[in-house]
Amino acid sequence: MKTGKEAPIIDYDAYRDTIGTVDEDGHRKWVYPRKPKGRMHTYRAIVAVILLIGLFVGPFLRINGEPMFLFNLLERKFIILGLTFWPQDFHLFALALITFMVFIILFTVAFGRVWCGWACPQTIFMEMVFRKIEYLIEGDAPKQRKLSRQAWDAEKISKRSLKYTLFALISFLIGNLVMAYVVGTEELSKIITEGPAENMGNFTFVLIFSGIFFFVFAYLREQACIAICPYGRLQGVLLDKDSIVVAYDNVRGEPRDLFRKNEDRQEANKGDCINCSLCVQVCPTGIDIRNGTQLECVNCTACIDACDDVMDKVGFKRGLIRFASMNNIALGKKFKYTPKMIAYTVVLIGLMAFLSFSLSTRSDVEATILRAKGTFYTMPNDSTVSNLYNLQIVNKTQKDFPLTIKVMNLENGVVKMVGKELQVTARDITKRPFFVELPPGSLDGMKTKIVLGVFSGDKKLDEVKTTFLGPM
Ligand code: SF4
Ligand code: SF4
Repeated sequence: MKTGKEAPIIDYDAYRDTIGTVDEDGHRKWVYPRKPKGRMHTYRAIVAVILLIGLFVGPFLRINGEPMFLFNLLERKFIILGLTFWPQDFHLFALALITFMVFIILFTVAFGRVWCGWACPQTIFMEMVFRKIEYLIEGDAPKQRKLSRQAWDAEKISKRSLKYTLFALISFLIGNLVMAYVVGTEELSKIITEGPAENMGNFTFVLIFSGIFFFVFAYLREQACIAICPYGRLQGVLLDKDSIVVAYDNVRGEPRDLFRKNEDRQEANKGDCINCSLCVQVCPTGIDIRNGTQLECVNCTACIDACDDVMDKVGFKRGLIRFASMNNIALGKKFKYTPKMIAYTVVLIGLMAFLSFSLSTRSDVEATILRAKGTFYTMPNDSTVSNLYNLQIVNKTQKDFPLTIKVMNLENGVVKMVGKELQVTARDITKRPFFVELPPGSLDGMKTKIVLGVFSGDKKLDEVKTTFLGPM
């Protein structure tokens, strides 16, 4: 172990000239990461199991009979933690999304890409499910490489068939899971109870999603994080020298050189990195963390485990690769809350307060009343002028209730519903036409402003302003 040594000059930008997963001819280099193992991997596996259980149980959880989560894009109905959001609540939904984004940004500024390595469904499924199956069937990286090179003999055909069959089955399971979040478990179960032919729309989407997942996990893999994920592309602007990321301690590690038993590395002017390249071999995105922080790094910590294992074996202190900021490594600075983080925190607290206020004051019932298109006024008799309106009422509550409408600002106004008494269904949109009748004497010429109150019993739920047409 050496101390008091100056940081060597490393060209941190050299790695930008090439992409780890593309060769000089522009062809994709398939990544065969070595099987990760170690302390961090165990923690990650525990987190992954908890998250996977949550993800698969999520669509079955109910609050007051409603799903806990539903993201029905087709009907534009979203349920988050049992709260139903209709298109009328879009501003709240957008606000919740912005708040979540700011939270992710703040988290990224402070702790780098922890989300990617520990919580992102893409990484969890890829590294903790699909990759595990691959290791189980094809063995560790050297065996996988050998299998890929060998001819299509019985061994290769049987191993690959088994692997891709399992991949297809799991992709189908994930396809169903996604649909359960989109249409709900009841709708999804109809595919089984009534058959795919009766539910062709949903079944087609399950197959499309399954196909996409199979393609992503069998072929696209790390490219989804490296080249497609927009969050990954944001790292360049979010991270700074105080962000804590998976980092190689170049001050301690350089100059890297092979390990020789009983050698005094300080005297030999050698750093603690023994250039074994195991940190590179375990990397699922095919990068060398010793080149510095890179956009491809998903903070999976496999290189931390690999290097710690090497350090244990050669008798050096662990942590040559660890969670640290650039300032921590180069200047020995401890983590501190930077002005950038404070600014994001203030914005986040403001957004959360505004969101909480908006949610707590959100109306349970929203009425829209419009005069029927293309209609004028009618006079059923000499003492009555009548206008036709359309009512649309969104009931966000969990209960049905009767509804009445009253003219609030004019005496003698009468409201007549078309059809029987209006009953508003829970968690649904109810539409109904109705007539408003007024005596000619109470009108202000051709156009009279009226205020209609929407009531459930004696309780006023909403008030809508509109116009009433009458004779000159
Ligand atoms: S695993 Fe550690 S010692 Fe080996 S090359 Fe990587 S940083 Fe150096
Ligand atoms: S550099 Fe390390 S933490 Fe980053 S993706 Fe590779 S193995 Fe994971």
